[in-house]
Amino acid sequence: MLSKDTGVCIRTVDYSETSQIVTFFTKSTGKIGAIAKGSKRPRSAFDGPIEMFSYGEIVFSDPTKEKLVTLTEFQQHGFTGLTNNLFAFNCCLFAAELLNKLTDDYDPHPELFEGFLHFLQDVNEHQRSSIEHRHILSLLILFQLTLLSEIGLMPVLNACANCKTKYEIQITSDERRATSNEVYFSSSANGMICKDCESNFSDKIKLSPSGASCLINLKQVAQTSERTLKEIEKILISHFTELLGHRPKMAKHILKSSDKRPK
Ligand SMILES: [Zn+2]
Repeated sequence: MLSKDTGVCIRTVDYSETSQIVTFFTKSTGKIGAIAKGSKRPRSAFDGPIEMFSYGEIVFSDPTKEKLVTLTEFQQHGFTGLTNNLFAFNCCLFAAELLNKLTDDYDPHPELFEGFLHFLQDVNEHQRSSIEHRHILSLLILFQLTLLSEIGLMPVLNACANCKTKYEIQITSDERRATSNEVYFSSSANGMICKDCESNFSDKIKLSPSGASCLINLKQVAQTSERTLKEIEKILISHFTELLGHRPKMAKHILKSSDKRPK
């Protein structure tokens, strides 16, 4: 019996000279590992080797029988622009790494599937100009929060995660003059922490007023400065490091490469 689904490739490993083992994140089946026999042969059934982030309809052997299914059909559609922009590509690899590590096989998350595909589409559209680093970073942050929300680990951002006091932050037009109460982020509390509670959480990180404001009102993420986005991404990386028990492999490429200015 064969199964059909829509999937996007989130990992590929060479299996032999002619075959690959591919991890797909699919809409209805969740994450699956598949062997693509002969995919690297010149005339393969998959239009050539399977590329990272290619997506489309896939057909595979009965997943209830074996851990690794056999891929029988895959007409690849790709995001052709992603490899032109190293920062954009690294952000997508980072998102795929987190998706792979934080979801289980055969645990479907259709909305997360749509969210990941939209993320790839948006990054693909915005990768052309190097000035869009800021925009790509904002897309990555929003996807990371979608991922946390979909797997049931959304941090508490609108109130102190410990005492539940609601946050209200007023930001003036000049971010530097913004006045607010002190706000922290703590992975062990899974969210924001107020000044009264911070002493209970040794892993807390203090947020700038604009960083706190963005996390309290996520609509601001799309408009805020690159500096604030880097601050938030740094916090998210340390949060993912806590969740995974190790630092994500791609993390080192995200804050570093966005420092590079276009020539
Ligand atoms: Zn509190």
